Amino acid sequence: MDTDGRRANGLKYECLLFDMDDTLYPMSSGLNLACRKNIEEFMLHHLHIEESEVPRMCLELYREYGTTMAGLKALGYEFDEDEFHAFAHGRLPYEKLKPDAVLRNLLLSMPQRKIIFTNADEAHAAEVLKRLGLEDCFEGVICFETLNPPTETANYTDALDNDAVLAGGEAEHKKLDDAKKESSHSKPRILCKPSLEAIEAAIRIANFDPKKTIFFDDSARNIASGKAAGLHTVIVGKSVPVAGADYALSSIHNIKEAIPEIWEGEGEQQEQVIQPSAVETVVLA
Ligand SMILES: [Mg+2]
Repeated sequence: MDTDGRRANGLKYECLLFDMDDTLYPMSSGLNLACRKNIEEFMLHHLHIEESEVPRMCLELYREYGTTMAGLKALGYEFDEDEFHAFAHGRLPYEKLKPDAVLRNLLLSMPQRKIIFTNADEAHAAEVLKRLGLEDCFEGVICFETLNPPTETANYTDALDNDAVLAGGEAEHKKLDDAKKESSHSKPRILCKPSLEAIEAAIRIANFDPKKTIFFDDSARNIASGKAAGLHTVIVGKSVPVAGADYALSSIHNIKEAIPEIWEGEGEQQEQVIQPSAVETVVLA
């Protein structure tokens, strides 16, 4: 990482890294729940996983691998990633998301680089940002496709023997255990938060100094990894900090009251140094 070329701008923080879902809008929007239901339906109808196993497995894989999709792939399930994303996000109640002028004005008043870092796919990120009226507030979006380019998604069946792939019921637990044991040589693994590797990849791709960057996320696991990567961290949607969090914001709207340092030094130097080319996948200008 080379930040030497970037001029010091007199600000304590140079970059703000935002998770999107349940961070830029509240969990109460219902998108999260609807998304989980869609994923469960995909597991049931497309992967033919036993109905009684689906909810628990969906949650366990999410917890263990960062996303349910990453967990399913690690277990050896074969499916098209775009199809999965289209199914998971295709019928979400996006109409629940309304333009957020308060957040928009806050974001536009922040002198730092602002980047989205989401495990979701590009289409979902674009739709959410459009609905929130924030599509022009960020320099770029680091999303599923950024960290998992199509050329690296072959041979995932190597992870497990074929006879283990479509077993159901109690076998799922054994498969999860097996997959964990095999994970060192199961490839390619989906790269996503909360893995430290994913966070380090984001740092590399967007070329920012973690020590001068604040990371906002609603997931305690992601925050813990962000801290391990050297970022300043803010847990969003909670009123008290979790492990690894420097700050807690019950709502992203409270950002100015909680972290006035973001704006400090702004008056000394208004010029904002932006390197749009640093982000490989710029979904939005
Ligand atoms: Mg989130």
